[in-house]
Amino acid sequence: MPLTVPPITELAAAPDWRTVDFISDLHLQASEPATFEAWRRYLAETPADAVFMLGDLFEVWVGDDAADEPGSFEAQCASVLRQARAPLFFLHGNRDFLVGEAFLRSAGVTGLADPTVLAFAGRRWLLSHGDALCLDDVEYQRFRALARDPAWQRQVLAQPLAARRALSRGIRSESESRKRSGTVYADVDGPAAMAWLQAANAHALIHGHTHKPASHELAPGLARHVLSDWDLDATPPRADALRLTAAGLERIALAPR
Ligand code: MN
Repeated sequence: MPLTVPPITELAAAPDWRTVDFISDLHLQASEPATFEAWRRYLAETPADAVFMLGDLFEVWVGDDAADEPGSFEAQCASVLRQARAPLFFLHGNRDFLVGEAFLRSAGVTGLADPTVLAFAGRRWLLSHGDALCLDDVEYQRFRALARDPAWQRQVLAQPLAARRALSRGIRSESESRKRSGTVYADVDGPAAMAWLQAANAHALIHGHTHKPASHELAPGLARHVLSDWDLDATPPRADALRLTAAGLERIALAPR
């Protein structure tokens, strides 16, 4: 895949922010109530002044109208978001790319472009889900281009909600069987990540998607920090945030040990 640098959007942290949290890849779904509950508690209790949710917050998103169905899982998620302590920001992942402005507005969440550079405490942090940087996954990049096309999205969203829910169940079982077959997923392309950082004049990239939590030095002074996914039913349970203060970045374990 060719190396392209997307336009870089910029967000300045509010002057009174002291602590900023980043989370991603919670893959929230009705069948995993423990992860949902950990997320609910985290958003109600985090000391952060802002929380950035960097994609794949939801395992699947079939359309904002799903949250209008009283009692639906999506409606419960909207209610959790509205009760969060801190201002919330969200950018799309490869699962929840259909989350729309209408849902975000109703849930009190600010949508961000991918990537966005956050100016905080005199430094520039580049935020992304990370999927656009996994250039070796050619098949996925082809799907991504389609799935981000507004005309394709309109066509999908024009189908009745029940049909979209059925379609998503089919896609999900397909991806479960791909997981079980031990498919090796592509990782973030190092030179592409460096090109993004240089274009953004940023020193660090924070992303999720790969479920390989770690910090990597790309070059002297350039780093890539990878978020963990969340799974409270795993052994041991996983739920991490990266927490940024003027002192730097720290990985916070949120799951009970
Ligand atoms: Mn992802």
